[in-house]
Amino acid sequence: MQKYSWILFLMFILGVSNTYAQTQKGFKIDTTQLYSTYCFLHQNPELSGYEIETSALLKRELAELGFTIVDSLGLNSFAGVLENGKGPTILYRTDMDALPILETTGVGFASSKTDNTNGKQVPIMHACGHDFHMTTWLGVARTLVAAKKKWKGTIIFLAQSSEETGQGAKGIVKASNYVKLPTPKYQLAIHDTPDLLTGSFGFCDEYSMAAVDMMNITIHGRGGHGAEPFKTIDPILLSANFIQELQSIVSQNLAFNNPAVITVGAINGGTVGNIIPNSVELKLTIRTFSPENRKYVLTRIEEIGNYLALAAGLSETELPDYELLDMSIPPVYNNPALGELLQKSISNTSKSNSIVKVLPKMIGEDFGIYSNSNSIPSYLIWAGVKSPNNTAPSTSGSLHSSTFLPDYKSALPLTVDAISNCLIDLFAIH
Ligand SMILES: [Zn+2]
Ligand SMILES: [Zn+2]
Repeated sequence: MQKYSWILFLMFILGVSNTYAQTQKGFKIDTTQLYSTYCFLHQNPELSGYEIETSALLKRELAELGFTIVDSLGLNSFAGVLENGKGPTILYRTDMDALPILETTGVGFASSKTDNTNGKQVPIMHACGHDFHMTTWLGVARTLVAAKKKWKGTIIFLAQSSEETGQGAKGIVKASNYVKLPTPKYQLAIHDTPDLLTGSFGFCDEYSMAAVDMMNITIHGRGGHGAEPFKTIDPILLSANFIQELQSIVSQNLAFNNPAVITVGAINGGTVGNIIPNSVELKLTIRTFSPENRKYVLTRIEEIGNYLALAAGLSETELPDYELLDMSIPPVYNNPALGELLQKSISNTSKSNSIVKVLPKMIGEDFGIYSNSNSIPSYLIWAGVKSPNNTAPSTSGSLHSSTFLPDYKSALPLTVDAISNCLIDLFAIH
């Protein structure tokens, strides 16, 4: 991160003048600084749990702006707290981690970083746009500090590690230093999306992102010669029936307006064609929205697996093993009343900003852990990053793809402006 300071220092020495975006409400947003921060973070991604340099950079920036840093929030997570008179407390969270993907955007500031995980060298890329979230977050911090006269209260800027592995928010809510932070009245986060144009902000009230569960299942059988299946109980045939039948939970057991997804992402069993193995391993991801639905689907998976095993002739001691991995995260619940306030705020921000009502998504986000643990009104806003002119290389790339790249030049100042306004307007509510 030394390099980052040098870039800014050289810009200062060489007299490189910054450009600013003047917003409708009078904020002066330093776009030169935003773009250089974004490109630097994009070029220097770090994997979940390893965001050491990234968190150091964010911390240094917040400390320079006068925030008090609260450390030890699990992994590399930390908070910056800024008190500015008597008023409500609001929490605004960014995530920091990148993904093990080889970037193919072809831009000059593409990541060429790799890291060694589990003895394997893997490429790293900000393919979920957490670099966009961090840059926006820093931009909002700078705007709020510059506009201190326009608001009163306490802001908690929360920088979270390990969103992609579902461990970051879990670690934070368990940390003793987190409990010591002032209690927020509202909790906010953004997530970028190439589904919406820059300047568009997506709102989805109530359950907006799914609860995520990962499950490993071992289907037992009784192996033997491939030529004599009548002397065996074939776990491969049993697995095939089970996988088919799992989809009946979504199509037959749940109402059409009560969606869920059950995906079997991996099947491993057997060695060669003429041996019936003793067991088969399945790896599943399960997506639901309400806690009731989640419980129902998990129970139904076991019921179907157990009944099929018994029907195949296995005994009660040979039923499948179901292992729910320690990666479960609850759904993201967006508070509708808070959503209304935020929409009003964004609509009044800039003529080029617009509100789009979006449908819930089956992807997961651990931001739901905060409101799940404290019932404080929370909202995750989708921030559009798709180029309106189809010029940015991002346009075709979806989240988690090697070609994902936000139209950052257009989206960053608009998002900083929108979120700064949201926060300032929320501070005005007593
Ligand atoms: Zn992601
Ligand atoms: Zn993400």
